[in-house]
Order: sequence, then structure tokens, then C-alpha cells
Amino acid sequence: MDATVILARARRLQANAGAVCALAEELRAQAWTDRDIVRQQVQRRAGRRIARLARGGSSAFELPKWTGDGLKETRERACPHCGDRTIAPRGHVRAVDGVVKAMYLCQDCKKGFVLVLTLLR
Ligand SMILES: [Zn+2]
Repeated sequence: MDATVILARARRLQANAGAVCALAEELRAQAWTDRDIVRQQVQRRAGRRIARLARGGSSAFELPKWTGDGLKETRERACPHCGDRTIAPRGHVRAVDGVVKAMYLCQDCKKGFVLVLTLLR
């Protein structure tokens, strides 16, 4: 193999490597753009995330019927009856006028109450 053939092959390989590098850079930029779009969508739908967390998980089950009317309401993650902070979600959640109301049960006094969560801005 003479030197000119080797040199031509090296230049071809160098050009290919440059093209692959440019493609990788393009894909990297697209991935960052996609990541920003997803982040913005999650921020716009903060209520869905809060509702999912309030009912205690990420399951997509149909929400049970709301039975929290008349129960004591609180904005603190603590029992409004006894003040204990060991509380558990009861799976009942509803969104009302920009807030999410979630039924909770105190693990200490076993009384139910409604935790009122404000949507993230
Ligand atoms: Zn309690």
C-alpha cells in the first residue's frame, strides 16, 4: 500500500469522525431541549403531582368518592385534633378553587381530617 492511499484513507476517516462528532453534538443539544420542555410541562401541571403525592402514591387508579366534607381542615402536615405528625393518606383527594384537599388519618388518635395543599406557583 503506498503512502498516498494511506493518506487518502486517513483523511476519509477523519472526515467521518468529524461528521459523527457533529451529530453527537446535535443530539446532545436536542436532549437538553427535550429535558427543558419536560421540566416546563411538569411545572405547569404541579397540581397533578401534588394530587398524586397526597393520595399516597403514583398509581393511576380512579379516585374514590370524596367524603371529607365536615372534617376538620388544616394546612399543616400534622393532626389538627392531637397535633401528632404521624399521618397517613386515605386516598381521597379533590381540587377546589386552586387548592388540593386530601383526606388523611392520624395514626395516633385515629381521627380523620383534611389536609389543604396550595398548588406550586
Ligand atoms: Zn391525632
